[in-house]
Amino acid sequence: MRKWAWGFIGAIAFAGITNIAAQQPGYPVTVIAPGKGPFTFPEGFVTPWDKIEIRVTEKMSPNLFVLHGSQGLDTAHPDASGGRAMALFGPDGVLMVDTQNRQVAEKTLAAVRTFTNEPIKIIVNTHVHSDHTGANSYFAKQGGLIYAQENLRNEMIRQQPRANGQPAPAPDMGGVPLVTYQYDPKEPGRPAVTFHMNNEVVDFIPMPPSHTAGDTIVRFRNADVIYIEDFYRNFGYPFADQANGGSLKGMVEAVDLIEKLAGPNTTLIPGHGTLVKKGDLLPYRQMVIDVLAKVTAMRNQGKSLQDVLAANLTKPYDQTTMGDTQQSKDRFITEAYFEAKELPPVVDGKRAMPRTP
Ligand SMILES: [Zn+2]
Repeated sequence: MRKWAWGFIGAIAFAGITNIAAQQPGYPVTVIAPGKGPFTFPEGFVTPWDKIEIRVTEKMSPNLFVLHGSQGLDTAHPDASGGRAMALFGPDGVLMVDTQNRQVAEKTLAAVRTFTNEPIKIIVNTHVHSDHTGANSYFAKQGGLIYAQENLRNEMIRQQPRANGQPAPAPDMGGVPLVTYQYDPKEPGRPAVTFHMNNEVVDFIPMPPSHTAGDTIVRFRNADVIYIEDFYRNFGYPFADQANGGSLKGMVEAVDLIEKLAGPNTTLIPGHGTLVKKGDLLPYRQMVIDVLAKVTAMRNQGKSLQDVLAANLTKPYDQTTMGDTQQSKDRFITEAYFEAKELPPVVDGKRAMPRTP
C-alpha cells in the first residue's frame, strides 16, 4: 500500500477515537440542575415513586451520561430523587455506576435506552445505600456483572435491624456484588480494577472507611471525571454512616485523597447536590474538622448529646449549606459526638454503634 493510503487510514482511526472518546470542548454539560430547595413535605407525605422521572441530567462526554431523579418528590433526597447513576456506553457495552432506587428500576433502564441499545455489561456500586444499589438485581438480570468492595458485599448481606426495631429485610441475593476487592491502606488511590471500554479508561478506586466502609470512587480518565459518591455532599450536612463502617475522620481522609487524585479542572460528581471541582471540597473539609473539634471539646467537658445538639454548632454554616434541615444537622452532630470518643472497629463492613435516641 502506498504511503498516503496508510496516512489516510490512520487519520480515520484517529478521528474515530477522538470523536467518541477524549474530553471535548463544551463538556461537561448540565442538562437539568438539581433543585436548591428549601423543600417542605406535608406531615405523612409518602414518596410517590410513580411520579418520579429518571432523566439524563448531565453529559460528561459524548458517551458518558449521568442519570438522576426529579426534584421535590423524594423525602430522602428532595433536590433530585435517589442517588446519581452514570452510564458509559458504546460498542463494548454499557458500564454503569450505581443502579438507583429499586422503585424506579424500569425507568432507569428506559432512560439508558434513550441513548444506547448496547447490553448492560459492568456495574460498580459506590456504596451500599439503597438509592445507589436498590436496582442491582434488576440490572444484574439485564446482564450486568456487579463489582464492589468486599465490605459493601458484607454490609448488604448482614443488614442491621432498622432504627424502629424492625428486623432488617432479607438481602436480595440477585443484587449482591459478585466481584469484590479491598481497600489497601498501604496504597491509597490505587485502582482495584481498570476497564478499557468504549475508548474510555475507567478505574474503580476503593476508598478508606469514609461514608461507609465499602466506598468506591470511579475515575474516567479521558473525560477527566471522578464520581466521588457521598463522602462529600453539598445538599444537607455531612453523613458518615458509622453503623456501616463510615467515619467523619475517614471522610476527611477521602477528601485528602481526592486532592491527590484529581486535577484542578477534574469534574467531581457527588452522589447528591451539584457537580464540583476539588477546590470546592476544602470548605467542607474545614467544616467537618471544625465541628468535630467543637463537639469533642464539649464532650470532654462532660456535656451530654442533648447539650451538644442544643448548642447549634452548625449555625455558622447554615447560610452556605443547602438542605440544612434540623434532621440533617442533628445527624451530623450526633456522628461527631460518637466520634469524639473512639468508634468501635469495622468488622465485616460494620461497626457496633450505640442506638441513637
Ligand atoms: Zn447517596
